[in-house]
Parts: sequence; structure tokens; C-alpha cells
Amino acid sequence: MVTESSSELFQYTLDKNNHIVAVNQSFIQFAEQNAWAIELDAVMDKPLLSFIDGQETQIFTELLLARVREKQQLVTIPFRCDSQNCKRYLSMSISPMADGMLSFSNQLLKQELRTPLELAKETTHSINPQHKVCMCSWCNKFMIDGQQWAEVEAAIDKLDLFAANYREKYISHGICPDCQSLMMAGRSQV
Ligand SMILES: [Zn+2]
Repeated sequence: MVTESSSELFQYTLDKNNHIVAVNQSFIQFAEQNAWAIELDAVMDKPLLSFIDGQETQIFTELLLARVREKQQLVTIPFRCDSQNCKRYLSMSISPMADGMLSFSNQLLKQELRTPLELAKETTHSINPQHKVCMCSWCNKFMIDGQQWAEVEAAIDKLDLFAANYREKYISHGICPDCQSLMMAGRSQV
């Protein structure tokens, strides 16, 4: 089932040091619906990067933010924020503001229900690399053979992702080449 786009915008603002200085009510509600352990006190004045998993993704995010400030141009990037039973397609717009501040505006474009997936555990710890699978933080695809990236449905069999059968598998976060080039291109949109 596909739920159409809502006009609701999940917004937050960063200061020049990439600390979160404002969030709107819709963002808090979205976080609550996702059962994210996010409360207002826990995000305010915290660095955005502390909420992003994976060193590689953090580096690309920093580069992207620096680019928006440097070019003083609005950037819009698609991303995914899937839950166990739902594929969610969102767009993120980042606009430069005065004094190096940045305004983020995320919109849910579409969501599709799917059979709930119970996947391997997520981890940031270092473990045997053979037991680690990499998920792109931006599009939620998985690396399946060291080069190719695929939707989770296609990746499950190849990577033995089901937690029930393969408890020793762990998911780490990275960024796939498609999302890297999208972010570096800094595609701007009005
Ligand atoms: Zn990606």
C-alpha cells in the first residue's frame, strides 16, 4: 500500500558548528512515531553528527553541509528512512541562512507497507568483518558483493540478513557510491 505525500515538513535548524538549535513539532512527532529515542532535551544543542551512524556517512554529511554554506544555495536530496514494516521515501532540503546557520526541511514523499522484516542487529562496534554487512544510511540499500548495492528484499538472501537464522550478522552504516555522487554534486532544486 502506498500512502501519498503529506505536506507536513519535519524541520530543524543547525548553527554554524552543526549543532541542533531548533526543531519543529512535526519533527518531534515523526521521531515519536518511529520510536526513536529522541526527546527535545536530548537533541537541542547537540551536534547533528552524533545522530548519524557510520564514520563515512558523517564525513559526507559534513562535506555536504560545508558545500551548502560555501555555495549559499539550497540543496535537495532524496533519502530513505525505512522502518521494519514500511519503506519511506523522503526528500531533504538544506537551505543556507544568516551566520552560517542551516535550515533542514524533510518531507515524506511516499510510503509503502511491506512484510515486516526482522533483520540482524545494528552495531557500531568493531567485529569480525565477515559478519558485518553494510547499509547505506541515505538510501537504505545493502552492499551485496563488495561493489553492488541492492534493496533489502534482494539483499536478504545473499547476505543472510534474517536475525532468526543468522544471529552473528551485524549491520553497519556507510554510504553507497550513488548517494556519494548525489551529495557531492549538490544538486540544487528550487
Ligand atoms: Zn545510497
